[in-house]
Amino acid sequence: MCITEVKQNSNHNNNGDGVVKSNANCNNGTVHDAFISLDRGDPKMYYMYWKNVDDKCSVTIKASDLMSYFADHDEGGVFYQLPEFSKAVHRIHNVVGNAVTKGRYIIGGTGSSQLFTVTLAALASRINSCNQIKNKRRIPVVCAQPYYSCYEEALEEEKSEIYQWRGDANKFNEEGPYIEVVTTPNNPDGRLREAVVKKKGGVVICDLAYYWPQYTPITAPADYDVMLFTLSKATGHAGSRVGWAIVKDKEIALRMIKLMSLVTIGTCHEGQLRATTILDFVSDNYEQHLPNGKLVVEHQEGFFEFSHRVLAERWKRLRAVVNRCGIFKLPDYSPEICTFMNKSTPPNPAYAWMELKTGEDAEKVMNKLKIRTRAGPRFGVSSKYVRVSMMESDETFNQFLERLSTLQD
Ligand code: PMP
Repeated sequence: MCITEVKQNSNHNNNGDGVVKSNANCNNGTVHDAFISLDRGDPKMYYMYWKNVDDKCSVTIKASDLMSYFADHDEGGVFYQLPEFSKAVHRIHNVVGNAVTKGRYIIGGTGSSQLFTVTLAALASRINSCNQIKNKRRIPVVCAQPYYSCYEEALEEEKSEIYQWRGDANKFNEEGPYIEVVTTPNNPDGRLREAVVKKKGGVVICDLAYYWPQYTPITAPADYDVMLFTLSKATGHAGSRVGWAIVKDKEIALRMIKLMSLVTIGTCHEGQLRATTILDFVSDNYEQHLPNGKLVVEHQEGFFEFSHRVLAERWKRLRAVVNRCGIFKLPDYSPEICTFMNKSTPPNPAYAWMELKTGEDAEKVMNKLKIRTRAGPRFGVSSKYVRVSMMESDETFNQFLERLSTLQD
């Protein structure tokens, strides 16, 4: 049998792969010739869950709905934000217990990527406005390596005049204000993290994209001054481009809202409505089954149990293949009690951080197997590492394991 690939723009009518299979035409090459992509964090594994839900959680928008720029009827709120969106964010964090939201500002954005730069701009301009004119400078932005590749790439491209990417936080040794990004659990290596610089004048942005029970045990509600979350990794709806910041300080929040107003006059209301429906669907599922705020094990498989199960199974299978081949190393993670699952679970990170034991270029080895991965240098470390997404569709993940199994020590 010969399988050809046709790239699609959406996954409305396929298996979530963006790939339609046909055995009609062999000219584009067989599946063994085609590269499989595990280099991006595209959360396709969630498609299987949401496909079964479909009409039970849909949004209808009439022609006359959501026409105004303004959405918030509460004075002093985020003018572009649907009040039900803010409510859904508070609610899901209460249900899961992964972040403190009481008394905090919830600020929606076009994905957490947009909020990342908006937060940097708000923090850097606040730092500079507090300092003397003569001391104004580009505020250093650091993150311990291995760091999420897009931080560096976005900041180098943007060339902001008020902040500047300065790389590995472990090597940062300057006096004066700085911004440290703490990603926990970390992308790419899944480790839990805390700030490392801890100097006077520093502020922390905490990127909690993966602080959800499917990826890591929830041990306590996160409580940082600025926290970033994204629907892309919480429920898998990356295409809706919805993220949110949870902000403690009023002045920072107002600066962020002002920037959101200047750059894009807020965010898309349709996206907020979709996010609200999805988040409320997940919350409903657990609130109906959690009389004491604890997960009742017998109840029908909910969203987090489904995604936890899929990731846990994938990690088990990947570890078996990696051990058999003996060529790569994977990080070990210790189990902890998850307050949401009400049991001890090991982390199942969204990415496999694979180290080539010989110390040679790991991406080259993967390329020979026609597996596209993201190489260590993009995360600020050696080329002996690659990052592989664990969130791809079943089919791509199975092909990945098949190809990896052909490696011999
Ligand atoms: N932070 C981290 C650590 C991420 O991995 C990602 C997505 N890969 C983002 C932020 C951005 O997410 P989005 O823009 O889709 O909300």
